[in-house]
Order: sequence, then C-alpha cells, then structure tokens
Amino acid sequence: MPDLDHSLAAVQQRIALAAQLASRDPRSVTLLAVSKTFPAEDVRAAHAAGQHAFGENYVQEALTKIETLADLRASLEWHFIGPLQSNKSRPVAENFDWVHSVDRLKIAQRLAEQRPAHLPPLNVCLQVNVSGEASKAGVSPAEAAEVAHAIAALPQLRLRGLMSIPEPAETIDAQRVPHRQLRELFEQLRADGLELDTLSMGMSSDLEAAVLEGATIVRVGTAIFGARDYSH
Ligand SMILES: *Cc1c(COP(=O)(O)O)cnc(C)c1O
Repeated sequence: MPDLDHSLAAVQQRIALAAQLASRDPRSVTLLAVSKTFPAEDVRAAHAAGQHAFGENYVQEALTKIETLADLRASLEWHFIGPLQSNKSRPVAENFDWVHSVDRLKIAQRLAEQRPAHLPPLNVCLQVNVSGEASKAGVSPAEAAEVAHAIAALPQLRLRGLMSIPEPAETIDAQRVPHRQLRELFEQLRADGLELDTLSMGMSSDLEAAVLEGATIVRVGTAIFGARDYSH
C-alpha cells in the first residue's frame, strides 16, 4: 500500500495550486478518492488519513466494500461512477449516496423508483459525452437539456450536475477543451433554471485542467492508491 497520508496530501496540494491559479477557493473542489480494485483496508486507511468520499465502478465489488466498512458508514460518502446496467440499479439505489454515471433517462427512472423512501434523495450527475469521448457512454450535448430537465423532475433523486470522462490529452491546454465544453453546458442549464452545483470532471492526469475550468469534484484513483491491477 502506498503511503496514503502522503499521496492524499500531494493530491490536495495539486488541487490547491490549480485553485489558486484560477482564483478559486480550494474548498470549492471535493476530492473523490476512486478506490476501485483496491481493498476495503485501503479505504479504511484513507479514511483514517481524513478522506471521506470514495468512488467505485463495479457494483459487486463496491457492495462488499460498503458491507466490510459498515462501521464507518456514517462518515463515508459512496459515489458510483461506473457504467450502470439496468439490472444492477437496485443495490446502487439502496447503498450509494451519489451516482455520477447516469447516462440515460431510463436508468434515472429506475434509480428514482428504487431509492428507499427512508433515505435522502440520491444525488446524481448526468454523464455527457462532450466530444467523442474514450468511453462512449453519456448523452450528447444536444440532448443534455431535455434529459436533465426530465431527471430533475423525478422523485427521490437530486440532479446535482454534469460528469464527463474526456479522451486523454497530453497538454494542459488540450485537456482544458472538453472540460470547458462541459462547464459551458453546465452554465447553460443553470441559466435555463436547473439548480445545479456539481461539475464532476478531472482524474489523476488532468485534474489541474479540470479545476482551472471549474470542476467541483475531481475523481482521482491512481495518484492516491497507485496503479491498478485488474488481474484478480
Ligand atoms: C477509474 C476512474 C477514475 C480514476 O482514474 P485515475 O486515472 O486512476 O485517477 C475517475 N473516473 C472514472 C469514471 C473512473 O472510472
């Protein structure tokens, strides 16, 4: 396990520097630690180092971790960020605090129906495919407004904002282009009356570009936990 105190502090420092360049309050950017493929013990160690929000991509793996860490549940925030199949939506609606990867109205409708009444509304982001992204998931910018308004009207969900996974790019200027497009779409939707407060964009390799363009949540895995091993 890497020294999580050190790696978390280093990532927070990167966020703070980028925020300073953008004249933003660093506290306006939340670090989501992406713990997929890493064991519950690593999440526990990161939590002990002061980290509270964790992102997971695979339903079964996440459920096992949430269960293992049930003693910490009140001080953990679980965010689902992976592709979501309809037949796996129920445990996500029942166990997570956020879903960033809502990429069609139908999955939002299922999450709304399946979110237990005794829990607060599930926070969701609409995933947008801004410019032929690496992951083909997400609504097109042209259809985003219609889908966002429909999601905002659903019970038991709270539409918080937009999320994207852009194609990797080498330079910070190139990385900023899709982040800027997502932010402009976000601003249009807000001008259009939607009460959005979240731009989920930026990962280990492009978080500075994302913060410069207004990210409020950066989703960081490798820079915190190290390289992932998918072999088991
Ligand atoms: C894995 C993943 C991340 C984290 O990526 P890193 O490059 O390891 O920081 C962020 N967002 C999503 C949607 C992911 O699947």
